[in-house]
Amino acid sequence: MNTRIRLHDLEFVPYLSEDAIQTRVRELGAVLSAQYAGQTPLFISILSGAFMFASDLIRHFSGDCEIAFVKLRSYSGTQSTGQVQSVIGLEMELAGRPIVIVEDIVDTGRTLHYFMEQLRLEHPASVSVVALLHKPDAAEYQVPIDHLGFSIENKFVVGYGLDYEGLGRNLSAIYQLASD
Ligand code: 5GP
Repeated sequence: MNTRIRLHDLEFVPYLSEDAIQTRVRELGAVLSAQYAGQTPLFISILSGAFMFASDLIRHFSGDCEIAFVKLRSYSGTQSTGQVQSVIGLEMELAGRPIVIVEDIVDTGRTLHYFMEQLRLEHPASVSVVALLHKPDAAEYQVPIDHLGFSIENKFVVGYGLDYEGLGRNLSAIYQLASD
């Protein structure tokens, strides 16, 4: 991977390579293909950060599936605001459907906790969670992650869909905030 990058006022160092991410996403796709064989799951991708992960993940899902998007927001800059706002909601019928929530990163767990509470009200047949990244040291809410890409340190990261103040989403690798 290349060297450090700068986004706005902050510097970031390479953390997870494009190869490492793609290999793991392929593995997760294979696991989900086996788990949902013969079913038609609805993947629900939490925007904005999960758009790249979701699009790669469903390319590695071998059966029929559908995808929908919901926009939730709890971050401002590099800090969680402590509140989750639902910006775009789901309009389709979820009752009786197997649902796979696709999340970019579980930090405090607040976003997922909030979203899973909303989902349960719709009576889906089942709900499983696939998250690319998890910061276990930041956990404030117990949320079930059924399939995880990588467990990471409690430091701010960008790339592969994740941004810092709007920038960095287009990077194919993941970068961590530089500590110096
Ligand atoms: P939580 O609700 O679990 O605290 O945070 C989840 C959301 O916060 C993620 O979906 C993501 O949008 C954002 N987030 C958490 N940690 C990071 C991070 O290290 N980098 C970026 N860019 N966003 C993060």
